[in-house]
Amino acid sequence: MSAVLEPTDEPGGPDGTAAYCAWCGGARAEGDHAACERRLATVDPPRHCPVCARRMVVQVDPVGWTARCSRHGESAGTNGFSTP
Ligand SMILES: [Zn+2]
Ligand SMILES: [Zn+2]
Repeated sequence: MSAVLEPTDEPGGPDGTAAYCAWCGGARAEGDHAACERRLATVDPPRHCPVCARRMVVQVDPVGWTARCSRHGESAGTNGFSTP
């Protein structure tokens, strides 16, 4: 796992931890997100903020992705995009 999460004081999750699935936006404590995490670990950038579940603005480029939450700022990753 190499997700970059900015520390935050914003409410939405205990201690700013990832309370929500970054792929489907559902609560991580509920349901099975194994498939979501598999997608996030391979080819897909997150679509939802893991702290507040807001939809993020996602940009994909040849070397990775950046995803911006309007409240929690930007996270970035290179999940597989640079691998031939
Ligand atoms: Zn999920
Ligand atoms: Zn957020």
